Amino acid sequence: MGMPWYLFLKEKNKELHIQCGLKLIKKGFRPLGNDTIMKKYPVEKSEAEWLELLGPERYAILRKKGTERPFTGTYNLHTENGAYNCGACNAQLFQSTNKFDSGCGWPSFDASIEGTVEYVRDTTHGMIRTEILCANCGSHLGHVFNDGPTETGQRYCVNSASIDFKG
Ligand SMILES: [Zn+2]
Repeated sequence: MGMPWYLFLKEKNKELHIQCGLKLIKKGFRPLGNDTIMKKYPVEKSEAEWLELLGPERYAILRKKGTERPFTGTYNLHTENGAYNCGACNAQLFQSTNKFDSGCGWPSFDASIEGTVEYVRDTTHGMIRTEILCANCGSHLGHVFNDGPTETGQRYCVNSASIDFKG
């Protein structure tokens, strides 16, 4: 039988995989993400539904693991008190008390709210990084690094487009 055809396409050509994945939606199949294979989350939507809900820019980051350009996001230097929720499913992920200015150009936190974030090894772009996902819906948030300046030692580097501030 060999490998399933969608896995084959994923490794050969990511764009082709995504295009084929969208065609698969119409046939009732759920397309594969970058690293997660058919994992179930409390909040599940088809890629077409996510695209309609989020719009193309947020969809590209949250659902296709894109990255906004540094120093361009709404929350990079945002300092109000409150929580930051998932931009896709609205689950609470970060508290403003954990936010700090890392100078890297993206909103940075030294911790997430416990149990709300999922960690996935990411070997794309010639680097070994830890991707962070919303544990409630599997949407891409950013990456976490071990070079944080506070006692947690963690730097959660998050796209502004992946989160919504709730005061
Ligand atoms: Zn979410």
